[in-house]
Amino acid sequence: MEPIVSFDELLKKLAATVLDVDASQTWPTQQFNWLAGSGVLGWVIPEEYGGQPVSESECVTGYERLATACLTTCFALTQRNGACQRIVGSSNEEIKAELLPRLASGESFATVGISHLTTSRQHISKPMVRVEQQGDHFILNGMIPWVTGAIAADHIVTGGTCNDGLQVLIAMPCDLDGISIRSKVELMSLTAAETTSIDLNNVRISTKYLLAGPVEGVMSQGVGGGAGSLTTSTLALGVSVRSLALLQEEAERRPDLKENVSMFEREVELLRDDVSKASLGLAGDDPQLSATMIRQRSNSLALRITQAALAVTKGAGFMKGHPAELAVREAMFFLVWSCPQPVVQGVLSELTCRDGF
Ligand SMILES: Cc1cc2nc3c(=O)[nH]c(=O)nc-3n(C[C@H](O)[C@H](O)[C@H](O)COP(=O)(O)OP(=O)(O)OC[C@H]3O[C@@H](n4cnc5c(N)ncnc54)[C@H](O)[C@@H]3O)c2cc1C
Repeated sequence: MEPIVSFDELLKKLAATVLDVDASQTWPTQQFNWLAGSGVLGWVIPEEYGGQPVSESECVTGYERLATACLTTCFALTQRNGACQRIVGSSNEEIKAELLPRLASGESFATVGISHLTTSRQHISKPMVRVEQQGDHFILNGMIPWVTGAIAADHIVTGGTCNDGLQVLIAMPCDLDGISIRSKVELMSLTAAETTSIDLNNVRISTKYLLAGPVEGVMSQGVGGGAGSLTTSTLALGVSVRSLALLQEEAERRPDLKENVSMFEREVELLRDDVSKASLGLAGDDPQLSATMIRQRSNSLALRITQAALAVTKGAGFMKGHPAELAVREAMFFLVWSCPQPVVQGVLSELTCRDGF
């Protein structure tokens, strides 16, 4: 099927509304309609279910360009794609046939609430979500701490821990009794992605929605990109590219900026090449190309280049609604989103100027 909106047109539309999305703080419905119209919602769904699949490397390039245009929309898309990828990667054929065609067309929406199994609350020994199997149902109790796009979701891919310590991953329908979505919280940036917590009070879910498990460490099974994956780095790179464009625009009128801007240009190009190599499976044993190192480098660049754009745009850039202040706030997100411990350590080393930073 021919897209109604080309990818380049989509990027233009997203870039034109990026400041409005941030200011409105409401879910980007219109932007998701554009994603549907451009075929982007089919990227991670096989053709047999109505998708328009792209390779991992194409997906990474696409995410970078989408994040440059509008991080909020792109980030919400990655959470939705994470859910789709977990469904696609499951061996539950019934649920794939039931959910994937409507996800591919954009008629339904899914998201993930899995951080309590990877990067959130890992210092707490009691499971955040407890699961008990009763016949052909799972009973879920507890709280899912982070779910982006919860208000728009028909299904949330989430999981919990059984009494014996094994974990399950489930495509939880959102209309079940006992699910209560908390009001969204105002965040430093990305508030429009409607991230919130969900309380689960004796939620009864048919076992037909099981995607994986019961097994130890269910999030290390199957596909979908783990915490600190290349996708997360690509989004940070996208924000950096947007700030680079701001710097380049300023440097056209201000020759004294050219040398610093060209240093950032080289860093962006090098990182982009390395992300591309890693996405093509060409990382080999090069430590600079490990997922952790690429994420650390992406975080570092996003923090520095967004602040450089602020320094250069001066007081004007400090005003609410200026692209420079938006980018600075957005860069902070990468300090907390999907950051495994080695990435946090890398950030702290840089901030304390340790280990050669
Ligand atoms: C905007 C946004 C959107 C997100 N969207 C999603 C989503 O859609 N789906 C999803 O699954 N996840 C999502 N996440 C979650 C994200 O990937 C991380 O898991 C999350 O940011 C980790 O933060 P936390 O506060 O839960 O971490 P925690 O590790 O739980 O830290 C919470 C607090 O505990 C304390 N603490 C931390 N570590 C220790 C320790 N070792 N010992 C003692 N105390 C400690 C600290 O005081 C800290 O403030 C989102 C996060 C953000 C910010």
